[in-house]
Amino acid sequence: MNKSKPSKLTLFHTSMLIIPEKADPELDSIAATWETEGGSVLRLGRFWEPFDTASLFPKLYGNEVFCRLIAQQADLRLVSPEDDLLLRIDSKWLNRNISLIELSALLASGSAVQFPVFVKPLITKQFQPGVYRSALELHKATEGLEIVEQVIVSEVVSFSCEVRAFVFLGSVLALSIYEGFAEEEEAGLFIQGFLSESMSLLPVTCVVDFGFIEERGWSIIEFNPAWGSGLNGCDPKMVVKCIYYATEKPVKNMDIIGAHAYSSNHEDVLLEDSICGCFYCLTIFDPCEIEEWIEDKKGTALCPYCGIDSVIGESSGYPITKEFLAEMQGYWF
Ligand SMILES: [Zn+2]
Repeated sequence: MNKSKPSKLTLFHTSMLIIPEKADPELDSIAATWETEGGSVLRLGRFWEPFDTASLFPKLYGNEVFCRLIAQQADLRLVSPEDDLLLRIDSKWLNRNISLIELSALLASGSAVQFPVFVKPLITKQFQPGVYRSALELHKATEGLEIVEQVIVSEVVSFSCEVRAFVFLGSVLALSIYEGFAEEEEAGLFIQGFLSESMSLLPVTCVVDFGFIEERGWSIIEFNPAWGSGLNGCDPKMVVKCIYYATEKPVKNMDIIGAHAYSSNHEDVLLEDSICGCFYCLTIFDPCEIEEWIEDKKGTALCPYCGIDSVIGESSGYPITKEFLAEMQGYWF
């Protein structure tokens, strides 16, 4: 029972996209789309200097160092997939051996790992991810680093094509085959199948890269944050929605008592929102999924996942995040 949604994002006009100043065709196209949607754009060159965001809600897009610095400075939270997400999804989506190993164990003589392997640091970007042909080669690349880091070790496979998908609330908003050749429809079917089974593991928005391994099939390559991923041919008109939801306000000092007023008599505003959440069962979903309403003054939503009248939408101005919903749940239930 999908209701038609407005094409524009309800709250775009209150947002300010902050991107690096450098000239770049992808940044330019995202900035132009953002402005077309009614938001404003700030290009920061010397991003370490304080800047005034006034009443606008800053949203970040750019490289990792840039976004992390601004997020810290402006007290924002970046929405990212968990570092170990690749290890937590069902292995049938991977089609190759992937494991988490301490770097020291991988480098030790007598390690069970057969080189060459693909190695990537779990959290920090301390060394270059890539295929390493021997323990010696990996040792050289990681020399001088504290050998306590855990690394993701993956069997070396070759992908005949690579695809990027920008994902929002378990749906693909934009998809592009950026390397090799594949049927877009086939790629779309794979990623939708994955999302419908794995949605609860993913953040509200992220980027999923996947590809085809000959004689094995479609496989997830990696997950990346929407705030830091290049377009790789994806349509900026769709991608800006993911970027918008990839920056959140921090939960601290939020008025969880005042927020309750937004969980009733809200049918008209809620149906304009792109996202809402339930502070009883903590599910975050698209308001068009709501099927039952209490017929009071202006209509009060019943959560489609638990049936409780505890749904709050983004137009309330409160962050629709698991953290905030859990805060409200702690007080109200
Ligand atoms: Zn619920």
